[in-house]
Amino acid sequence: MAKIVILGSAAAVNDATHDYTHFLLIGDDGHPILVDAGSNPLGKLKYLGIDDDAMQDVILTHFHPDHVGGVPNMLMHMWLIGRQTSMRVHGLHHCINRIEDTMEAYNWQDWPNFFPITFHRLRERDEVVILDNDDFYMVAYPVKHFVPTIGLRITNKRNGRVLGYSCDTEPCEAVYKIADGVDMLIHEAAGAPPGHSTATQAAQIAQESGSKSLYLIHYPVWNVDPAPLVDEAAQRYDGPITLCKDFDIYEF
Ligand SMILES: [Zn+2]
Repeated sequence: MAKIVILGSAAAVNDATHDYTHFLLIGDDGHPILVDAGSNPLGKLKYLGIDDDAMQDVILTHFHPDHVGGVPNMLMHMWLIGRQTSMRVHGLHHCINRIEDTMEAYNWQDWPNFFPITFHRLRERDEVVILDNDDFYMVAYPVKHFVPTIGLRITNKRNGRVLGYSCDTEPCEAVYKIADGVDMLIHEAAGAPPGHSTATQAAQIAQESGSKSLYLIHYPVWNVDPAPLVDEAAQRYDGPITLCKDFDIYEF
């Protein structure tokens, strides 16, 4: 069974037990797909017994530090432990161009025997295919944040289940398309618009789009207890609600 491994659950201010929002998607073929890297996730992968060498696809949703700030450390780490397996990095032009510029600022072209990386620039429009393999069919939708940002809609090709991930967005038409009838909706709950959504708005979207379950992520943790967000969401949504926590693993 495919699974989702939550590596971080916090919004842009993290703490010791809630890292920036990023997660892994692991299908039956065993190749983990990483969604965002606000922190270098390699230590967590080792702790969880997940083979980082098998991770060949990285999706970067947008160029904000809490989503991509860990990429240079992750790539350096992989290089230093001797990775030779190639890697594909997917994202919008806005994000990928800046990632390449950042790596050039670190002179990565002078890092000897660096493993092969290919950058896949996604067009900024609805339903752009990111990947289509034996396990998953994954498409992106531009959502409404402060910089060009994608949300994801992922079909598990082995069992037909569908996962929506809002990423960082205020309520918008695209997020309803992402959430439409999904089995699982992972939705941010960072706070009021612009650029973000409250738990109440996430719940409203889950309810109106017929999502079968709601997972709240990317929520504030600094000097605030996030637990009441579940009750807040339950006022607007009838289905099961989970507050994502770091190291949670969900079957998909
Ligand atoms: Zn964010």
